[in-house]
Amino acid sequence: MDKRDVIARAREEGVKFIRLQFTDLLGVMKNVAITVDQLEKALDGELMFDGSSIYGFTRIEESDMYLRPDPDTFVVFPWRPRDGGVARLMCDIYNPDGTPFEGCPRLTLKRALAKAAELGYTMHVGPELEFFLFCLDEDEKPTLKTHDQAGYFDLSPVDLGEQARRDIVLTLEEMGFEIEASHHEVAPGQHEIDFKYSDALDTADKIMTFKFVVRTIAQQHGLHATFMPKPVFGINGSGMHTNQSLFKGNSNAFYDENGPMQLSKEAYYYIGGLLKHARALAAITNPTVNSYKRLVPGYEAPVYLAWSGRNRSPLIRIPAKRGQSTRVELRNPDPSCNPYLALAACLTAGLDGINNQIEPPPACDRNIYQMTDAELKELGIGSLPASLQEAFAELAKDEVVRGALGDHIYEKLTEAKQTEWNSFRMQVHQWEIDRYLTMF
Ligand code: ADP
Ligand code: MG
Ligand code: MG
Ligand code: MG
Ligand code: MG
Repeated sequence: MDKRDVIARAREEGVKFIRLQFTDLLGVMKNVAITVDQLEKALDGELMFDGSSIYGFTRIEESDMYLRPDPDTFVVFPWRPRDGGVARLMCDIYNPDGTPFEGCPRLTLKRALAKAAELGYTMHVGPELEFFLFCLDEDEKPTLKTHDQAGYFDLSPVDLGEQARRDIVLTLEEMGFEIEASHHEVAPGQHEIDFKYSDALDTADKIMTFKFVVRTIAQQHGLHATFMPKPVFGINGSGMHTNQSLFKGNSNAFYDENGPMQLSKEAYYYIGGLLKHARALAAITNPTVNSYKRLVPGYEAPVYLAWSGRNRSPLIRIPAKRGQSTRVELRNPDPSCNPYLALAACLTAGLDGINNQIEPPPACDRNIYQMTDAELKELGIGSLPASLQEAFAELAKDEVVRGALGDHIYEKLTEAKQTEWNSFRMQVHQWEIDRYLTMF
């Protein structure tokens, strides 16, 4: 699609409003709404917004930023009326002088992809997003009650959550997603919808769109959708397994008919790179205090730094499919991450593995959770950071992952996450009251 196509399609579909969308450092989608009359100007990159209101975006003295929409991301919202419709465009952010803004997550991913392109690679990513659908209370506020449980008291024979999920899938398909699978997850009220892999930039855009569509459609069903990694203690949290592969031209560079396990050298080095940088990567792929409540033993989430072609307990799994589907599944990312930064960081870590020929340790096909501390030590199996604070301490030491972010984003993110951590740390939690109030 180019500028002309977008304008023509907006006219054909009776679009009246356009939302110019972009993602802030914390992974939250922002919108600037314009009328269709301003579309041409917007497509020429002439629309400004005040960046000073958005965290980490600008210094006060130069707060005007330019939005440059990507015409390929034009899509009409299927749930809005045909007459007076609403469409959106994803944007990159530029400085007033026309240079790319170093704090734009989408441009950060593009930079990482350009580095891969210099080596002849394109990155392909297929994410598996999990989420919860919770009931609302009388005041329309989200609760932690799921419809599966509430269903016991409900006369309706159909699960409201299942209906919402079906609607979500249909809406996503109308918006150009190819849905490969959609199912109820292990925990009550938890769902997963998988869409077909694509190049990394398209996938990152789709992840943002996905979260927005899921929340919108859930709301129409009187439910609250959350991508919070671990909303309920004692049951599985929500992950975003990130399946990744590198292609050279039209062929999958991770596949080698004659390699061990039919994997290429590049696949092994990519795994080596991910494992080497995994502890720092966690700051980006698991960026909230709550992320680390998911990464604990017993709930199908990874804890240990190992890989396997067989079992699902390690950080990295190599699914059995070969040929074009040969891929590395990184299992720790969760949907609270900024997908642009997460994919940029993963790719950079994987490329570091390829560039420096980092051999991964041997595959670990045993259940790591059943190993003793002594066994883990002997096999040299480390673990993911146990907290957001630990992850950021690792990131501070990792030049490669920091390099993927650039100084501006690294510094702003560290500042924001330090504040987040301190605020959490100073709270007195219910757990402490329960444990100590009567004990001492
Ligand atoms: P799981 O077995 O872990 O539940 P799923 O079938 O739910 O896996 O999801 C697999 C994901 O991997 C899908 O998004 C799919 O499109 C994606 N995928 C398939 N081939 C590739 C590839 N070559 N590169 C990246 N992702 C891929
Ligand atoms: Mg899956
Ligand atoms: Mg699955
Ligand atoms: Mg799952
Ligand atoms: Mg998976």
